[in-house]
Order: sequence, then C-alpha cells, then structure tokens
Amino acid sequence: MLFQARSIKHCKACGGSVHYQVPADDNRERAVCSDCHAIHYENPLNVVGTVPFWQDQVLLCRRNIEPRRGLWTLPAGFMELGESTAEGALRETVEEAGADVEMGALFTLLNVVRVGQVHLFYLARLRSTEFAPGPETIEAQLFTEAQIPWEEIAFKTTRETLLRYFEDRRSGRFGVHTADIA
Ligand code: ZN
Repeated sequence: MLFQARSIKHCKACGGSVHYQVPADDNRERAVCSDCHAIHYENPLNVVGTVPFWQDQVLLCRRNIEPRRGLWTLPAGFMELGESTAEGALRETVEEAGADVEMGALFTLLNVVRVGQVHLFYLARLRSTEFAPGPETIEAQLFTEAQIPWEEIAFKTTRETLLRYFEDRRSGRFGVHTADIA
C-alpha cells in the first residue's frame, strides 16, 4: 500500500491553496500550488533516540505528551535540520530525560512505512543515574529486563529496540538490527 499523507493544505511559498496531481516527469501525486505552481514534496521523517543503559538497567521515560501520554518510551524525537542522527538522538536524551550519556553505536534502524517514518536508536552509556526530566516527561526511571512494563510501552519501535537490547545483552554481542514495523 502506497503511503500518501495528503496533509499539505496551503503553499509554503505563496500561501495559495494546493491540489494533488502527478506532475510531468513524475510518477506519484504531489501537492501542487494552484497559484504559483510550486511542487511540495512529502518524504519520510527520521525519529532519533537512544537506549541509555546503566549496568543491567535501561532508562525509560514516561510520556507527558500525546500521543500515548502516561506510557513509557525510550528518549526519542524528530530529527532537526542542522544535526546528524547521533546529535539528534543525544539532544532528545538530554531534553526528555536530562541524562548524561556517552553516545555509542547505532543499534536499531526501524522502518515504520505506515506513518512514513524511520526510527534510529543508538546505544548510550549513562555516566550518572541522576536525571532531570524535561516538560515532555513525567518521570525517568531505570528498569532491569524483569522490571520493564511491557504492557505500558508507548511504541512498537521502543518495544522492538528493548527486546533486541536485552537479547544482545544476554549473548554479549551487540549488533545493528533492522526491521520493518507493521
Ligand atoms: Zn504557491
């Protein structure tokens, strides 16, 4: 199934109304301005985050914002212009958890085609267990594998990343995992 957002209502260049059509030399519908004829492309967004770990525990944040307010997630958010994926992941970790981490290797790359997103999580070793959650987080807390609130995990990509993390931790070998999330 082709993902089509059709979310653009007004032209970013002139404010005119847009309509969706297949431009010449293209093969899918785009938002085209009815006034200035500018074409606005919609492409997948990157969500970047970390797996902050301390000994046998992982840091989770309880969301203070919708969607999934009150549920637990790894620190992550939309990548910003002007930063690398790792820089974005570190920024989100500081903003959401107030955690002091040493960034490590890329750990998961997860395609969420249905919503037009790619989620990337990096391993991140905690330097301290003192956290200062930002306004988007109710609380930040360390969990062992046995303590993870699996029924209260906010997103499938968080769940997939946590499962892979504890699997690799048991085997003692950390790789890069890719998956398509349905
Ligand atoms: Zn326009």
